[in-house]
Amino acid sequence: MKIEEFRDFSIGDYHRLFKDKEISPLELVNLFLERIKEGEDKIHAFLFVNEEKAKDEAQKKAENLPDELLPLWGLPVAIKDNICTRGIPTTCGSKMLENFTPPYDATVVERLKKAGAIILGKTNMDEFAMGSSTQTSAFGPTYNPFDRRRVPGGSSGGSAASVCSLEAPFALGSDTGGSVRQPAAFCGVVGLRPTYGRISRYGVVSFASSLDQVGLITRKVEDAITLLEVVSGKDDKDSTCAPYPPFGRSEIPAPEEIRKLKVGVPREYFPSGLEKVIKTKIQEVLEKLKEEEIEIVEVSLPHTSYALESYYIVAAAEASSNLARYDGVVYGLRVEGENLQDMYFKTRTLGFGREVKKRIILGTYALSSGYYDEYYLKGMKVRTLVRQDFEEAFGKCDLLITPTTPSLPFFPEKKGRDPYEMYLNDMFTVPSAMAGLPSLSLNCGYDEGLPVGLQIIGRPFEEGKLLGLALFLEKLLALPSPFPLFKEDNNE
Ligand code: GLN
Repeated sequence: MKIEEFRDFSIGDYHRLFKDKEISPLELVNLFLERIKEGEDKIHAFLFVNEEKAKDEAQKKAENLPDELLPLWGLPVAIKDNICTRGIPTTCGSKMLENFTPPYDATVVERLKKAGAIILGKTNMDEFAMGSSTQTSAFGPTYNPFDRRRVPGGSSGGSAASVCSLEAPFALGSDTGGSVRQPAAFCGVVGLRPTYGRISRYGVVSFASSLDQVGLITRKVEDAITLLEVVSGKDDKDSTCAPYPPFGRSEIPAPEEIRKLKVGVPREYFPSGLEKVIKTKIQEVLEKLKEEEIEIVEVSLPHTSYALESYYIVAAAEASSNLARYDGVVYGLRVEGENLQDMYFKTRTLGFGREVKKRIILGTYALSSGYYDEYYLKGMKVRTLVRQDFEEAFGKCDLLITPTTPSLPFFPEKKGRDPYEMYLNDMFTVPSAMAGLPSLSLNCGYDEGLPVGLQIIGRPFEEGKLLGLALFLEKLLALPSPFPLFKEDNNE
């Protein structure tokens, strides 16, 4: 078989092939490994390819085909490099953790393995998940598979690029303020950030603990559903994980119920700076939904424009505290100095890149006495207002539809230099993260070969409705899943 035959596959299709003995897990893993070999010098989505162990695991499975297949049996999965994998390096895209190999699996990884998945490798990311372009990785950038001159989005850019190019069938990412949805939008795939607390974060390296959430990157909505069923649910090892059972597909309303849902469109998500083609594409989708007799209402989220500023204070404050642990003592990089103070100084100076240092300094400042009230506290108050906006809007509708990003995948030279312009790219993904709401990005079309992402936002723990509408839209739009060719000539 050839890898391009899997272009429109979801998990069930692979399982059918296994059952019919048309392919074995080892043959499948080998096809993905070949695709990685073909693609990696062009897009650099992976920081580590787990070749030997993946083959061993696949071989074991190939020898023992059970009658009933576990939900992810035999399927390779790519994991963002801030999620701990036992015996496999976990660097967070940082020199600080360049030589760190965790002695344990994150709960999500444990659950994937238990469901039969095979760890294919670890994906590139902005250092410590701080960024929107995967340019701040200490190990070099990832490139957008549709056009290598452009960024794949970030911080889960490696995960999104690998799924887009079929170097992996699906991947895990993490989303603090948009890091799953924005790269999914830029790579034309599905990116789901579930409700805050839906998925355990045990073993996920902390960035901003009141915001961090594991997310899923897939080619089909159907696969996001399966993955969510596998990885969600209560975990005694993470007290911030909600004490609920795992998500179940029975929570998804039937198609005729979907038609009864009211969809809100927040007017603040269509500002003048929004790229025209994005506005047009989203409007086209809304028209199609109207033709399907789904009710569309306009709503307002008046504090939207303040959400971004407040996010960059709250997230930086939490990061400054979380990243204090990298002091050269317990794990990670250690650069010897003349005394303890000097050792801390040299370790942190050499271990962290510019963006991470900037956030630590900003966050420390926002938390310091005298400035706490003015910055951190104010940021948290704005956050409450942002959440209340959503509560009010959800009194008038069941789900919201917005663009995922204000621009198409951009050129690194252009946005890389102006930090504020880069931060603006998160303007539509940050507010729902601040409010802890589930949200998903779905490809809704292309403009000159570049994908446009549509975002659906739901009420807390109503992933069922969210995924139901996503399935409905995916069917309605009927777009082919991406399979970009790794052309030599488009990176000049
Ligand atoms: N781009 C945002 C930031 O730089 C979001 C990152 C994320 O979600 N991890 O903070």
